Amino acid sequence: MYLALPSYSGRFATPPVPPAVRKSIVLAGFLGVGFALLYPARYEPSPWPPQLEMRVPFEPTAFPSAGRTYLAYELHVTNFTNDPLTLRRVEVFDADAPVLKPIAVFEGQQLDAVLRAVGVQPPVEEGSNAHPLVAGGGMVAFMWVAFETGAHVPNKLRHRVLTGDAVAEGAVIGTHHTELKVLRSPVLGADWLASDAPSNDADNHHRRGIFVYDGHASVSRRYAIDWVQLENGASFSGDARDKRAYYSYGKPVVAVADATVVTARDGLPDNVPGHNTPGHEGFSPAVPITLDTVAGNTITLDLGSGQFAYYCHLQPGSVRVKVGERVKRGQVIGLIGDSGDAREPHLHFEIANSPKLMAGEGLPYLIDHFSVKSASGWESRTHELPLKDMVIDFGR
Ligand SMILES: [Zn+2]
Repeated sequence: MYLALPSYSGRFATPPVPPAVRKSIVLAGFLGVGFALLYPARYEPSPWPPQLEMRVPFEPTAFPSAGRTYLAYELHVTNFTNDPLTLRRVEVFDADAPVLKPIAVFEGQQLDAVLRAVGVQPPVEEGSNAHPLVAGGGMVAFMWVAFETGAHVPNKLRHRVLTGDAVAEGAVIGTHHTELKVLRSPVLGADWLASDAPSNDADNHHRRGIFVYDGHASVSRRYAIDWVQLENGASFSGDARDKRAYYSYGKPVVAVADATVVTARDGLPDNVPGHNTPGHEGFSPAVPITLDTVAGNTITLDLGSGQFAYYCHLQPGSVRVKVGERVKRGQVIGLIGDSGDAREPHLHFEIANSPKLMAGEGLPYLIDHFSVKSASGWESRTHELPLKDMVIDFGR
């Protein structure tokens, strides 16, 4: 669950400029058309509001990266009627704007790319723009809205969903829900790949990682990053099944801020690395993967303000802190390992709003300073959250 990298063979080509940026659906101000132009005549006013519930379980916090500002959140829709309906289009508005113009629109393939059915829904008909939603059925739209530098980021968003014959409106949310903490990096040095870092790709197992805990569906991994150190574009050299062949293995992890230790789990064994890809068949974890073992050896730090930093898959015997201990920003607290649900050594790092693993909601944060590899060299970044597939130098 923590590391299921589909096309991840253990060797990496030099990643391009973050694809997440190009895949972002719509930029602010993209559509300059008014309401009257957007809706065909079939949307006759109904005497009853459409019985389509729209809900955002956890409000987003806008975060900057690579010259843009992003909002990532989930819009849950539920068909409360006894009849099937179809979803055709999802629109996002600035709820405070005097004239309602969509700032983001998802339809056709773009809508397809962000929707995940809850349970089984009929397939979309070939050539159709409509997503069937059975009576009582639900869908989650993984929303990802990007704003260009300087564009106004609304304080509140409002949503509109077009079905086969109706327009449902609602789900008004704020866009600055939590404090964006400025942290130092959890690892040191250069050539760290931000694997499955924030993006809206359908195969991003962090972004799509809805998990129900105590009856509440949340995404604690929403902004998680699997830090993998590379050399010459590869994560290891030599025997792919030797954990010590991986550049990440045994590298120190450090406290991202002054904090208090709330979890210091040690003693779980490392796995033999493997990806179930040609040459790496037959990955089997060293212990059965359960909620108790999935994160492997883990340190959790209480950063204050209800925010908790998770360091997962650490090396057995490497955890250097105890529960209740105060740690200093930059202090080495453990070493990267391959324990829990890890196919190869890496650090799974995330910030969530609960000290219970996988029970909270993932929160964005900023790293104080780093450099990103680009075609022309290294670009300096300040107070940003890395995005998927960036290769980063954190310095010492
Ligand atoms: Zn992970």
